[in-house]
Amino acid sequence: EIETEYFPLSFEQRPNDSVVAEVEREVILANPGFGKHFTDHMVAIDWTLDEGWHDARVQPYGPLLLDPAASVLHYAQEIFEGLKAYRHADGSVWTFRPEKNAERFQRSAHRLALPELSTEDFLESLKQLVRADINWVPDGEDTSLYLRPFMIANESFLGVRAAQKVSYYVIASPAGAYFPGGVKPVSIWLSTTYSRASRGGTGAAKCGGNYAASLLPQQEAAENGCAQVLFLDSESGNRIEELGGMNIFFVHKGKKVVTPELTGSILEGVTRDSIIQLARDRGFEVEERAVTIDEWRDGVESGDITEVFACGTAAVITPIGELKGPDFSIGSPDAEPGELTMSIRDELTDIQHGRREDVHGWLYRL
Ligand code: PMP
Repeated sequence: EIETEYFPLSFEQRPNDSVVAEVEREVILANPGFGKHFTDHMVAIDWTLDEGWHDARVQPYGPLLLDPAASVLHYAQEIFEGLKAYRHADGSVWTFRPEKNAERFQRSAHRLALPELSTEDFLESLKQLVRADINWVPDGEDTSLYLRPFMIANESFLGVRAAQKVSYYVIASPAGAYFPGGVKPVSIWLSTTYSRASRGGTGAAKCGGNYAASLLPQQEAAENGCAQVLFLDSESGNRIEELGGMNIFFVHKGKKVVTPELTGSILEGVTRDSIIQLARDRGFEVEERAVTIDEWRDGVESGDITEVFACGTAAVITPIGELKGPDFSIGSPDAEPGELTMSIRDELTDIQHGRREDVHGWLYRL
């Protein structure tokens, strides 16, 4: 066997002479919203079957020039990630368990027949971008810089096969506090018509197609006054999987926390994994197993289920007050946020923002 030495990519700096003016940036950072404004730079790395990964660079943020035949536009061979950079009180900037995102990105790449980017190069790409745009990391309470790495099939070819030319990018967008007026429980909508993923499908991959398929049910949720849609498994139609963009947890009486197991059709959330650890640290028993809609209804009625919450990078933890469907509802939209829900939320956001000791070594300095 030939031993191949691994050489990490080195990034070329292409300066941006048309950066957003400081005053304008300050206005944006005072009220960033989510996903609307972008920083001055982006990372780009190219891949070809012949050359592998090459031409890593930090370049001015701007439109991509895509051939109309670029395969991503036709066959959706695309994956992405989402994570945040947090500014701590001393001005330093950190991200949270980014190697988890790197590994998930590799699993997504494998499923979508895209080339894998090493964890080392993934982490370096985040570092390079955040260092170039460090002034874009906000310092307001619960604000962050959202990082969006993504990979697209970029070969001009209409044959249906894995592309032999691929592009990887990272863009960044300042994000305001998700709940500026305080955390409030949301209502969620049970989709009884549509499912998100099926056995052997792409549910465990973070690929654009999964989200395209969730938009119509998400619209249905919004029309019914709900913040997000809940999907059931496509086989039994009775087991709870996850929300359109978040995982779900149930708190039971007697120090027990339950979350749907990873079946291959659920996205393995970094927040989910972290909450399992924090709950165990507190002496809670954590069960990863099948949870049915009947268990949710019966558990709320009997008082055995005391709290339900959703979790993900964007909102961290969101209490769920009510589950609504076409002809039923469980829980109440006026419910108060649960005690454990809020206390784990505080613990997690404190660690991320450097206000509490990082005993698990989850923070990574950018
Ligand atoms: N499920 C889905 C479908 C998602 O899009 C997300 C957000 N990435 C999550 C769960 C939560 O994952 P994470 O905690 O890694 O953000």
